[in-house]
Amino acid sequence: MKLENKVAIVTGGSGGIGQALCDRLAREGAKIVINYRSHPDEAQKVKQEIEQIGSEALIVRADLSKVREINNLVEEGINYFGKVDILVNNAGLEKRADFWDVTEEDYDLVLNVNLKAVFFSTQAVVRHFRETNNPGRIINISSVHEELPFPHFTAYCASKGGVKMITRNLAVELGSMGITINNVAPGAIATPINEKLLNNPEQLKKVTQNIPLGRLGEPEDVAGLVAFLASDEARYITGSTFYVDGGLLWNYQEQ
Ligand code: NAP
Repeated sequence: MKLENKVAIVTGGSGGIGQALCDRLAREGAKIVINYRSHPDEAQKVKQEIEQIGSEALIVRADLSKVREINNLVEEGINYFGKVDILVNNAGLEKRADFWDVTEEDYDLVLNVNLKAVFFSTQAVVRHFRETNNPGRIINISSVHEELPFPHFTAYCASKGGVKMITRNLAVELGSMGITINNVAPGAIATPINEKLLNNPEQLKKVTQNIPLGRLGEPEDVAGLVAFLASDEARYITGSTFYVDGGLLWNYQEQ
């Protein structure tokens, strides 16, 4: 097992990719702090799965758009397990709108959860890593849209592009402490965030045709890479983005 005696915080851990991350990190031996915002029953199920695997979990509710709640999440994790070694910044959301119709409220929501929360969750964990002299791991679930334009989702792209630069910057600033930070950038993964797409066979066919591997990804396709980046085997990897997209990003074709 890659992560024995490690403690990991997974934000947005009650469903979608986050649930698969909790499960996979626990299978590798980690104890998990499951953060959720609005699905307590699902968070409870994830905890039970982790216990069945033979690991331990703590559930902490936090709305990550609020820095006070972020700090509380990290503090509760440290108090309960005695330490934190790994932070996976997974929580995120998107709002579709024509650029000229985007409201300040939606812009703030997307940027607060996808970018500001990554910044301050990482800050809270890095303070703990410094105090405990722990060369911990930070993994951000970014998106192919940290590079690839996505019309009608400009705030989302801005948030993920911001996460790319947080990662590059902190790789340099935190490197001397042995702390690593990397991005895992999914393409189209079958989770609730893509509910509309999954319920629209015509649109789904178009998207799938653009993916060289011919299918949407599953949350488990993302989880294995995160477990590797969280482990000691990845100790010399920092400041990078790794795409998990079935080849989608580079599939430009002349029509
Ligand atoms: P999802 O199923 O919709 O999960 C998103 C998670 O984020 C949910 O657990 C949600 O909790 C949580 N969240 C949203 N706002 C929050 C807040 N204010 N405070 C705390 N948690 C909050 O989508 P997913 O596909 O698993 O997405 C996970 C990450 O992957 C996101 O960062 C997303 O941008 C990224 N990603 C996904 C895809 C894809 O195709 N699925 C592609 C590229 C990148 P609640 O449900 O309780 O609100």
